[in-house]
Amino acid sequence: MPQDAKDWTDLPLFMEEALQRDASDPLADFRHRFHMPPHGAGHALYFTGNSLGLQPVEARSFIEGELEDWQRFGVEAHFEGRRPWVSYHKEATADLAALVGAQPEEVVAMNALTVNLHLLLISFYRPGGNRTKLMIEAGAFPSDRYAALSQLRLHGLDPDEHLIEIAPREGEHTLRAEDIETRIAAEGDSLACVMMCGVQYYTGQWMPMERITRAAHAVGATCGFDLAHATGNVPLELHDWNVDFACWCGYKYLNGGPGCTAGAFVHARHAHRPDLPRLEGWWGHSESRRFKMEPDFDLMPGAEGWQTSNAPVMNMAALLASLAEFRSAGMDRLRTKSLALTAFLEKGIHAVAEATDSRLEILTPSDPGARGCQLSVVAHGHGKALFDHLTQAGVIVDWREPAVIRLAPVPLYNSFRDVAEFLGLLHAGLRADT
Ligand SMILES: *Cc1c(COP(=O)(O)O)cnc(C)c1O
Repeated sequence: MPQDAKDWTDLPLFMEEALQRDASDPLADFRHRFHMPPHGAGHALYFTGNSLGLQPVEARSFIEGELEDWQRFGVEAHFEGRRPWVSYHKEATADLAALVGAQPEEVVAMNALTVNLHLLLISFYRPGGNRTKLMIEAGAFPSDRYAALSQLRLHGLDPDEHLIEIAPREGEHTLRAEDIETRIAAEGDSLACVMMCGVQYYTGQWMPMERITRAAHAVGATCGFDLAHATGNVPLELHDWNVDFACWCGYKYLNGGPGCTAGAFVHARHAHRPDLPRLEGWWGHSESRRFKMEPDFDLMPGAEGWQTSNAPVMNMAALLASLAEFRSAGMDRLRTKSLALTAFLEKGIHAVAEATDSRLEILTPSDPGARGCQLSVVAHGHGKALFDHLTQAGVIVDWREPAVIRLAPVPLYNSFRDVAEFLGLLHAGLRADT
């Protein structure tokens, strides 16, 4: 508890509410299924599950199980292991499909995120004739922008002319659905593909994905999403929304550990189209004939046909441990808790701003339907000193110049009490830094 908490009369109220809410939270026990980083005699206040999810306690036994199978069977573990390596990626399919709202055949765990983005753009960004443009959001995660630029160059197209970066209105931080639709319609048949984030990493905005998809299809463009900050954070219905393709990483909200295997989605409409050009490898070749080592490629049906290499087993083991936690928590209950947890944080930030006479501006939309758990807060008039104060007190948040704090209270392992403690420290930090 911060030392000067006693002169903030609202703080005890927030803590009281937090403890009550934790007591009636059906997911409260999941916290103990993850390793909370220690701080001093207690634990850190961890709000960076949007960058790297915490380690599931079960991750160790999943990884050790694979080490044992390797030790015991060598190459035979491909068939003899407890989770045979030859089909290891399939262990994740059902859970990933549930998280993104897909049929199992539409989903595959493979590679890393940016690699998957490239593989999917190879198939779904097919500029030709007048239809050449690729649309992304302005301020996209750098890797996505680099991917987009290099894809344009791969097709011999000048990014200055053929890349569209749609930006919010002057003075606004997030995109309006109708502005995206209007812009897509205006680009018309010059647009080949719309590729946007699902949840924006910087602002936390959850894009109107279904409307964007519909607008793209209306002009004959394909539509895909980078779900790095969306999968495991917000409920998704990729199949029903008719999204053409999507990809995500395994280490943010999915808690698979650093560099964890990523995921990809290809809609059933496309998943059985051998005519779609792609980069091929032996893991996309017919499963039953894979080890016949035939020279000619025989495409596998479904999203698995986009695989090139065999699955990185060690790297996926922790992901399976985490997906088991998602399965038992259930995305419906997680979303319900997430809405309450983020609203509680939002209410608290406004109260702290008022109590300290600070200008704390939340960039993330206030509409709960347009955000996940993350809030991006600008502490106007404050600098790195505030961040250092929070860090020393054991708060782990993401800081971007100038004074943007990104906080993600994750419903799987963060409590209302975490949020109330953070509010107390923020209050003290703002007081100290004036
Ligand atoms: C985290 C993130 C990445 C990271 O890409 P990797 O290929 O996993 O290193 C890319 N794009 C977005 C939008 C991200 O949020």
